[in-house]
Amino acid sequence: MTEIPAALYENDPTYQMAVKQLREAAKLLGLPDEIVEVLRHPEKLVQVKIPIRRDNGKIEVYLGWRSQHNSALGPYKGGIRYREDVTPGEVVALSMWMTWKNSLAGIPYGGGKGGIRVNPKQLSQRELEELSRKYFAAIAKDIGPDVDIPAPDVYTNPQTMAWYYDEYAKIIGKPSYAWGVVTAKPVEIGGLYARVVSTGYGTALAAREAAKRWIGGIEGKTVAIQGFGNVGQYAAKYLKEWGAIVVAVSDRSGAIYDPNGIDVEEAMRVKAETRKVTNYKKGDVKIISNEELLELPVDILIPAATENVITKANADRIKAKVISEGANGPTTPEAEEILHKKGVMIVPDILANAGGVTMSWIEWCNNRMGGWLTDEEALERLDRIMTRNFNRVFDEWQKKYSEYPMRAAAYAIAVDRVVRAMKLRGWI
Ligand code: NAD
Repeated sequence: MTEIPAALYENDPTYQMAVKQLREAAKLLGLPDEIVEVLRHPEKLVQVKIPIRRDNGKIEVYLGWRSQHNSALGPYKGGIRYREDVTPGEVVALSMWMTWKNSLAGIPYGGGKGGIRVNPKQLSQRELEELSRKYFAAIAKDIGPDVDIPAPDVYTNPQTMAWYYDEYAKIIGKPSYAWGVVTAKPVEIGGLYARVVSTGYGTALAAREAAKRWIGGIEGKTVAIQGFGNVGQYAAKYLKEWGAIVVAVSDRSGAIYDPNGIDVEEAMRVKAETRKVTNYKKGDVKIISNEELLELPVDILIPAATENVITKANADRIKAKVISEGANGPTTPEAEEILHKKGVMIVPDILANAGGVTMSWIEWCNNRMGGWLTDEEALERLDRIMTRNFNRVFDEWQKKYSEYPMRAAAYAIAVDRVVRAMKLRGWI
């Protein structure tokens, strides 16, 4: 295991974007450059070598990283991704974003993120298990329930968490303590079903609260959702339960639109059985494109697919008055400026999709209590926390930062909390 010099991440464009955002927040807060200098580097970045025996008998070596950005508020927390183009710079940037997201969520965690440079589709299940176990063993002395708590990210899932947990339990020899080393575990080994629905539920909660403060409540309001995966499906389900009318949803195959409302349960069944939501046939449904979905005459828009879909090219044609960002980075800064001027409220990703990490914290607490909470109680808690957080950011935004988009207020609050913790601890 080696410490990596800053030169390995400083030139990465994703890292540079994260630093730019940090500088903007620092400017709003009036923080000096020397504090930015402290915050722009991770506290620790480890690189590990992971040799595995492929099914064809040959040894192959993969590289993995874990970036521990900041621990002023508590143990590092953030996912681990498997992708063939993962870079140390991307991992550091993502760990910095986790610091802000966790800070804004008001949970006692710092920020971390990990990755392995691998195309997981090229590995068998056995090879993936060997890779996962060896990666976790290699970083084991830098993680732990009180130190750094990973979770799933791109191409990792509850099964990956089960392997990590098992490897760690073997290393430390304390299975029940080891529960807390990862979150989003399968329910059989300390996970909560509530974690499965939590990000979509949280995005829906953010939209519900935003609707109350901006457009007179959620009931009867029309909603379009781009992306009908984990986040989009549960956002749709809960918004419908609260009286909104979900008129359009989409996946890579295209979008379905019915101005009278989509039957969300039926769309989920069609998606699960045929993998394409466009096979939905009920009512007066029309097939439209993903681009058209974004421009529908709706009250609320939920981008829950991928990044950079709302840009300066389409921002002027967007009619929604509230956008709740389920996906990470769906709105470009230029588009955000245009929409802000039009009076559209964009609930930023670090607030709107924090339901997942907040539920991870609830799972971790539950593990420490020996499995005390029911899923129902866990969801009730998430509702209370997301509602409180949304309203705190909204009020601060209106009071101090209303000339900027809501994201500026969210970043300012998040960075400020970390800086105050660092000062109290005597770090700066
Ligand atoms: P997912 O893979 O379950 O679903 C993604 C959906 O988006 C699929 O229906 C897919 O067909 C669709 N999609 C992908 N590219 C598209 C495109 N270009 N146009 C239209 N549809 C497209 O993924 P997910 O877990 O629901 O994550 C969605 C987004 O939310 C991602 O940006 C992810 O980073 C973010 N997010 C997820 C979580 C979580 O806990 N799952 C937490 C925080 C943020």
